[in-house]
Amino acid sequence: MVAAANIMYNPFNIFFKYLGHGQIHDTYLVGTNSPNDTDVSTSQLIFKLGQHIYDTPDPNLPSDLDLLRNANAYNVYVSGNGDSKGGAAHGKGYPLHAQSRGSFIGRTSHATHEIRHSLGLNHTWDGFRYPYNPVPNVLTEGCERVPRDSSNPNFNVANHGDRILDTAAAPNFQVERWYELFWSQFEAPFLEGDATFDDFEDAQSYATANYDPIADAYLYAQNCTYTGTNKDCNRLDNYQLYSQDINNLMAYTKDCTEFVLTTGQAIRMRETIALDCESAMTPALNTLGVASLYEPYKGEYYVNGTVPVDINGDPNPPLLQPGFDYNFIDCDCFAEVDCDLPLDYENTDFTYNEQIGTFISKNDTHYGNITHPNHTAIKIIQLDNSQPWRCYDNYNRKPNGGTIIKFNDNVLNTNVTITPQDSTAINNENLINNLQPGLYNIIEQYDDGNTEEKVIEKTGNQKYINLSGIAKGLLLVKIETNDGMVVKKIIKI
Ligand SMILES: [Zn+2]
Repeated sequence: MVAAANIMYNPFNIFFKYLGHGQIHDTYLVGTNSPNDTDVSTSQLIFKLGQHIYDTPDPNLPSDLDLLRNANAYNVYVSGNGDSKGGAAHGKGYPLHAQSRGSFIGRTSHATHEIRHSLGLNHTWDGFRYPYNPVPNVLTEGCERVPRDSSNPNFNVANHGDRILDTAAAPNFQVERWYELFWSQFEAPFLEGDATFDDFEDAQSYATANYDPIADAYLYAQNCTYTGTNKDCNRLDNYQLYSQDINNLMAYTKDCTEFVLTTGQAIRMRETIALDCESAMTPALNTLGVASLYEPYKGEYYVNGTVPVDINGDPNPPLLQPGFDYNFIDCDCFAEVDCDLPLDYENTDFTYNEQIGTFISKNDTHYGNITHPNHTAIKIIQLDNSQPWRCYDNYNRKPNGGTIIKFNDNVLNTNVTITPQDSTAINNENLINNLQPGLYNIIEQYDDGNTEEKVIEKTGNQKYINLSGIAKGLLLVKIETNDGMVVKKIIKI
């Protein structure tokens, strides 16, 4: 979920850092509703939590709840009740969000949708009620008209709908057809003024029986274009909907929801955070600012001696936030500088070579791989593409073994000869000198299970097709893997 939130919000300079999670078992929080009673369970959860945190402490809540909640964080809750289709947010300006049964894992649209609510966004269909309101020019409260030009007399965007100019007036795509059917039955008695409750119920039954609850009636599923001819609540203008309206996460569609955020929505969210009308956002802001994102959320750097482990005795490498594009760039600390631990952010006492590095994509879901390799500095593309920071250049650690892979055809393919190396062999300072000419991958194995690899082309008198014409020295090579593009180090000697 942190990855999903970062991928979605980073383009607008909103960044998330994971601070931990926990679990709680308590029926008072979510009630004992049937598993499908989504609305009740999520509403209960968010209502009780909101009351407890922002209004009056609730003694009925489990005592460990407050331990679970981080008052200096944006807290997201997932309830065990309800199905995966619903969610609830506490309201604008409160860093508290709940989601019904589901998961924090992956790019769950519900979590990011609910976060948007608490960051100040309404549904793009806000105010949509009766597309077939039979009385022209009678607006339902808040209903947004189509015109986007402020000189148009029907322009009412500023204080209707979601109150954002660049999200078009839109119907709720999921129920638009339902309302259309409803009004096809109810319009006549309504206009004649003799509508009964039975008429109302009959029209509802008719609509429910004849609309398709699975698909959006007026979205052409192939490319998610709007095919409807319905008018807005003013009954003068047809909806004018484009991809960014249909795929907007604050729209309600069944099949077409992507992760679109408009500039207007981004500005509204940043305003909500900056203005902090409820004085609830500021405590959740990271006081260290972006420097914090160069610090691991978990794990420990190796300094010297034994390699750090977690409470289970497992390797505990420093892990950085998912959802960013990282370039871990080769760096060297100045001789007089101690970089057994990474330098502080904005300390420039190191050199680096942009041409050598390891790239990790924001879409990489192997979160355990997003660690800070030794002898590299961290470049986070979304934060600062101008240079890397925090050089970690630790020479206290020696590999305990490794492997030399020789590429027999002198290209990076699978025709290889593999020679294991014990600890004496891999630490031999003449290891590379002793190699015959050729292309090699040298893999160093460390106590904590980590490996470091470098691809080396040793030329001697021979010339190799793949790298000929390239100057000697440090180079990089890009290799396509299943996980995306990997940039490997090459030392041509
Ligand atoms: Zn919503």
